Amino acid sequence: MATFQAPRGTADILPDVQPLWRFVTETAREVALRHGYARLDTPIFEATGLFVRGVGEGTDIVDKEMYSFRDKGGDDLTLRPEATAALCRAYLEHGLQNGPRPVKLFTIGPFFRHDKPQAGRYRQFQQFNCEAIGEIDPAVDAEIIQVAWRFYRELGLHDLALALNSIGCPKCRPNYLDALRAYSEAHFDDLCHDCQGRLARNPLRLLDCKNPRCQALMAGAPKTTDYLCAECADHFAGVRRFLGILGIPYQIDHRLVRGLDYYTKTVFEVLPAETGGQSAIGGGGRYDGLIEQLGGHPTPAVGFATGLERVILNLQRQGVTPESTAPPLVYVVHRGAGADEAAWQLARSIREAGWPAVVSFGGRSIKAQMRNANALGAGWAAILQENEVQAGTVTLRNLRDHAEEVLPQSKIAARLRRD
Ligand code: AMP
Repeated sequence: MATFQAPRGTADILPDVQPLWRFVTETAREVALRHGYARLDTPIFEATGLFVRGVGEGTDIVDKEMYSFRDKGGDDLTLRPEATAALCRAYLEHGLQNGPRPVKLFTIGPFFRHDKPQAGRYRQFQQFNCEAIGEIDPAVDAEIIQVAWRFYRELGLHDLALALNSIGCPKCRPNYLDALRAYSEAHFDDLCHDCQGRLARNPLRLLDCKNPRCQALMAGAPKTTDYLCAECADHFAGVRRFLGILGIPYQIDHRLVRGLDYYTKTVFEVLPAETGGQSAIGGGGRYDGLIEQLGGHPTPAVGFATGLERVILNLQRQGVTPESTAPPLVYVVHRGAGADEAAWQLARSIREAGWPAVVSFGGRSIKAQMRNANALGAGWAAILQENEVQAGTVTLRNLRDHAEEVLPQSKIAARLRRD
C-alpha cells in the first residue's frame, strides 16, 4: 500500500526541536511586547484579491507562488503568502487608525509560498512580523530594525550583517528607473533571459538577480540613492542617524531592493555572514503607499518579517541550545494491590501543583518501569508499592543522584517545590 509523506516543502516539527521553537517564538513575542508592539493574528486564508492588489502583479509571489483556490461557496481565496497586506486589511477593517499612532502590531504564524524547496526555503514556513502603521518619522524605521536586531541578539545569533538601502518614492523612482533602464538596455545582450524579461515588467528586480553575470553588470548600474528626491534623501539620512544612535551597525547595499511591490524609501535585510550573503534571515522596509492601495487614506508605514525556520537553522548551525526552564518530569511507578489507584491520585495532585507527571501503563515490573522513567528523561521516580499504599507514603527517588526519601503522599507537591 502506498505510504504518505509530508507534502514537498513542508516539515514536521518533532518533539525534540519543540524547545527550540518555543524559545524562538517566546523571544519574538517578548521582544515585540517590550518595544510596545501588540499582537494581531489574521486568518490563514484571505481573499485572493488582497494579495494581488497588495503584493502586486509582476512579483514572484503573485505570479508564481500563491496557493489560490475557489472554495465550495465560489469565493476566490489564497493561503496567505505574507503578513503585511493582511495586517493592513485588518487595520482598515477594524478602524485601528482611530487609535493612537503609530499603530504597532506583530504577528507570528504560518505562511505559504509555492517556492522551490531547499535548505531554509519551504512551501509552508513561519514568520515573525512587526509593523508600525501611521508614522513617517525615520526613527520608526530604526525602531523596527532595532526590534529585529534585538530579537536575533537575544536568541544568541551572532555574525549578522544588516544591509540597508533607500529605493525612493513614486516621485523620484521614475527618474531612477529611466536611468536603470537606459543602463540595462545598453547591456541588453549580456543580461540573463529572466532579466531581459524583467526590464520591461519590473526593472528594479534586475538589481537583485542571482546570476553572477547580471550581478557583475549591476555593480556598475546607477544607484537608487543618487536619484532620491529631497524628502527621501532626508528620510534616509534620518534612518542612518537613528541607527547610529541605537548603535546598530549597517552597510549600504546599492543593489538591495525587495521582492514585493509595495516598498518605498527604506529597505533592509539581515544576513548571516557565513552563507556569503545569499539568503536573508529577515528583511523589511517602508511601504507608504500600501494602505491607500487597499482603500484607506494615504498612511505611512514600515515593517519587517523574519522566517523562523531560517532562524532555527542558524541557531542549530551555531550550536545554540535553549536552557530548559521546564520542571523535571515525575514518573509514578506502581506495583501491587491498590497501587494503581494511589498512583493516579498522586499523579493528579502532582499535575495540579504544576509538575509534569506520567503514570506507568500495562502492569510492568518495577525494574521495567524504572527503565522507562530513565528513557523518558524523568527527574524523579515516585514509587508506590503495597507497603507505601498501606502507610499513605511514597518513596521519592531523585533519578540524577539516586537519593531516596520516604514522605507522606500529601506532602509531595511541597517537597518538589523545595528543589
Ligand atoms: P519576504 O516576505 O519575502 O520579505 O520574506 C521575509 C523572510 O521570510 C525572509 O527573510 C525569510 O527569512 C522568510 N521566508 C520567505 N520565504 C520563505 C520560504 N519559502 N521558506 C522559508 N522562509 C521564507
